[in-house]
Amino acid sequence: MYYENAEYMVLSALVYVISDRKEKNMTTEEKLKKYQDWLFKCSAYHMALNIIDIDKQTVAPTAGASYRDARSAFLAGELFSLETDPEIVELLKDLKDDPKVDAENKRAIQLYYKQALDTLCIPKEEFVAFKKLCDESFDAWILAKSKADYSLFAPYLKKVIESQKKLYSYRKSDKSIYNQMLDDFEPGMDEEKYDAFFAALKERLVPLIQKVTKAKQLREDFLTQSFPVEEQKKFMEGLLEYLYFDSSWGYQNESEHPFTSWTCENDCRTTTKYLENNVISAILSTVHEVGHAYYEHNINPKYDGMILSEGVSSGMHESQSRLCENYLGRTLAFWKYHYPRLQKHFPKQLGEVSLEEFYQAINVSKPSFIRTEADELTYPLHVLIRYEIEKGLFNGSISTEGLDKTWNAKYKEYLGVDVPNDKVGILQDVHWSDGSFGYFPTYALGTAFAAQFMQAMRKDLDVERLLEENHFDEIMNWLKEHIHTYGFRYEASELMKMVTGEAFNVKYFLDYIEEKYTKLYQL
Ligand code: ZN
Repeated sequence: MYYENAEYMVLSALVYVISDRKEKNMTTEEKLKKYQDWLFKCSAYHMALNIIDIDKQTVAPTAGASYRDARSAFLAGELFSLETDPEIVELLKDLKDDPKVDAENKRAIQLYYKQALDTLCIPKEEFVAFKKLCDESFDAWILAKSKADYSLFAPYLKKVIESQKKLYSYRKSDKSIYNQMLDDFEPGMDEEKYDAFFAALKERLVPLIQKVTKAKQLREDFLTQSFPVEEQKKFMEGLLEYLYFDSSWGYQNESEHPFTSWTCENDCRTTTKYLENNVISAILSTVHEVGHAYYEHNINPKYDGMILSEGVSSGMHESQSRLCENYLGRTLAFWKYHYPRLQKHFPKQLGEVSLEEFYQAINVSKPSFIRTEADELTYPLHVLIRYEIEKGLFNGSISTEGLDKTWNAKYKEYLGVDVPNDKVGILQDVHWSDGSFGYFPTYALGTAFAAQFMQAMRKDLDVERLLEENHFDEIMNWLKEHIHTYGFRYEASELMKMVTGEAFNVKYFLDYIEEKYTKLYQL
């Protein structure tokens, strides 16, 4: 509904601009040509901004931040003007219902039109100021995290939330602001659906976690010895080769918070983070990020430079990365291949540890502080904590003041742990620094999507054999054929049905996790 309202407001304001448009008498072909030219220009700006952002998060010297931030905010403003150009909005409006436009272009045009209406209502100077604020807020987050001091980040977080509330209010939607944010990351999702999803998770996970806590504990102490980073990097070379993540289309760097970004299907950048006292962190984060990279790499190249060249939603993207990380990277079959190699790199640390012990250790379930390093069983609770805080921040029941204390209290309540400092507490994730509220729940949703995809994949492939025998590419080819290639052509719910033959059902994830941990802990 709210699009219709917004459309009315926007278009009535533009009447005088478009009344003497020359495009009125253009043919569909001419209009499409104009649309393609516009797409090319937009993609050039997107590419530049992506590369600047990747640079900022990886290698750019911090002292130059304010110079760069001001200029990238300017570029974002130029892109804003381009994407909300009244003539283009009118062109998109014409083309979205034009019967001569093919189905794929029509889908893309409809998505662009919706996007334009969502942003057109925002005054450009406020949009640019927000982009600049996000860059500054990111810099403040980095500093605050390095000093483990939330108070250095709190004023920026407050401003980011206030700005987001204001920017979203321009849409004049009937939905709450947080519901709009949830929908932006996962079209079709809202608080009601997420509440039901998390309730279903809690119902079966909480008792299972309690059983695991009481069971005989598995050894994992050997994973946190000293593992020199230089040696970890040598192991990584072989891992990237196994993942077929090669330099012709992908590149790995290091950053404070691992991420994946891209410009087109043959230019995918991932990062990882090495921890000397944790041998598994960089490995699993690499497998995770490469999962994101494959999604982009495998999208049909004819969608390059257009909105269809992106994954369907954040949840769908996370489903691909979490599938690689957990359903492949944490399996015994995967480690049957890699463990002898890891032992060779670290004979002192792992020489006496058997494959079975290692496999158990990397799957140990234990309440912890860091989401990205959490085991599969407790992971959804980390996400739930963030989801509840975000809901509170946007309905006014939680404030940024003392948010570190709120955070710590939730960790005590849900995971029973005492957070020792802000670095491993509230400052651990990058997301809130750039206003990405509504993103976190997609991590848990994507994880659950992945279980259902694995069920479908197993009907066609002997996954364990392929992992064990170094055929990771065949698994990626299956994902390409069934999921990746379509990009944003379909909605997540449509794609789920196409791939698995049924609607999303959280039961697949809960069955998987129950079976895995019952076996692992002999419950
Ligand atoms: Zn991810």
